[in-house]
Amino acid sequence: MQKKPFITKEKAEEIIKEIPTPFHIYDEKGIRENARRLRAAFAWNKGFKEYFAVKATPTPAILKILREEGCGTDCSSYAELLMSQRCGFKNPEIMFSSNDTPEEEFRFANEVGAIINLDDITHIDMLQRVCGIPETICCRYNPGGTFSISNQIMDNPGDAKYGMTRPQMKEAFLRLKELGAKNFGIHSFLASNTVSNEYYPKLARILFELAKELREETGVNITFINLSGGIGIPYTPDKEPNDIMLIGQGVKKAFEDILVPAGMGDVSIYTELGRFMLAPYGHLVTKAIHEKHIHKEYIGVDACAANLMRPAMYGAYHHITVLGKENAPCEKVYDITGSLCENNDKFAIDRCLPKIDMGDILVIHDTGAHGYSMGYNYNGRLRSAEILLREDGTFTMIRRAETVDDYFATLEGFWDKV
Ligand SMILES: *Cc1c(COP(=O)(O)O)cnc(C)c1O
Repeated sequence: MQKKPFITKEKAEEIIKEIPTPFHIYDEKGIRENARRLRAAFAWNKGFKEYFAVKATPTPAILKILREEGCGTDCSSYAELLMSQRCGFKNPEIMFSSNDTPEEEFRFANEVGAIINLDDITHIDMLQRVCGIPETICCRYNPGGTFSISNQIMDNPGDAKYGMTRPQMKEAFLRLKELGAKNFGIHSFLASNTVSNEYYPKLARILFELAKELREETGVNITFINLSGGIGIPYTPDKEPNDIMLIGQGVKKAFEDILVPAGMGDVSIYTELGRFMLAPYGHLVTKAIHEKHIHKEYIGVDACAANLMRPAMYGAYHHITVLGKENAPCEKVYDITGSLCENNDKFAIDRCLPKIDMGDILVIHDTGAHGYSMGYNYNGRLRSAEILLREDGTFTMIRRAETVDDYFATLEGFWDKV
């Protein structure tokens, strides 16, 4: 698979005339088409809903597009709840899947009508104290051990801080029932960034069996199963993208095998995808501003890890295209660096690329999720602007770049105190 940017050199140059690099740009058309594919894949389930994981791309213009495509939001903090509320999401369009949750966030989640997904059994009493137990409630499950698909370990739930054990799930449901809950949901997130059509179907089987058992053991009315996030994208060009239609069919098969015979065919399926919804539809656009020839060949760009942390944080691969040189031979080997005083501030290491000239525009792929949102201010670097490429080819700035005044804003009134 060749990774093709969704903008051309000409379009990038047109935008850069108005908005200097670096910036993140999002592809409205791609976002909408993908959201529609997801809906089609789960159209067999009457109550299906995707609650977009706000943390992936907490940008109102993006949330509004997703809302138009029928999505809700999944939040885990006060700010994310508030953003969802301000974007017009209301009950039952907000999921609150938090952990280590402050009291006041439960209160606010309840106030905005979010479905509360409890990460721990001890949160029941806290929630009861803070705002009472709502009629609809969800519990997060952690089976422990490792999670494998076809004998390959995908992730390690036993090491993850999230969710409740199997005995706790039963106890939690009984206690919540006693406190007045009427509609129950089950949530679990067992593996991240899976590039496999088998993840959701396998997870669904585990949760459907659990739902059946819990209903028998506790007599509660289970109304939804939340498969949460974890469907990944191929960051490297050698990987095949997930086939969401196949994934939807796999979950349907599990549903028909397990829930339908148990008389639970009216259970709704929810998802909380972040990466799958947005990552491929965002680019970080940056310019080559330095070349350096020492023990290795370096190209310095005007973006840095403050704009995209994944390579520095996880050693993550992000594909890079030099605009206008899409078909040029990859005859050079470069490290592509940002300006942070940290040697891990490299967007690529030993990457084969066409010869890069100063002023060339580079597209860093797959930054639409966990890109801008993980940005930070280390070294006094500022977060970039965000731009939406509309379906008609025009563009709109949907968030301005930070200025040094933003950076200093929290010092207001403190300049003279030292
Ligand atoms: C991060 C997260 C998601 C989204 O994960 P992706 O890998 O981006 O799909 C969904 N649910 C919860 C609770 C999360 O923490």
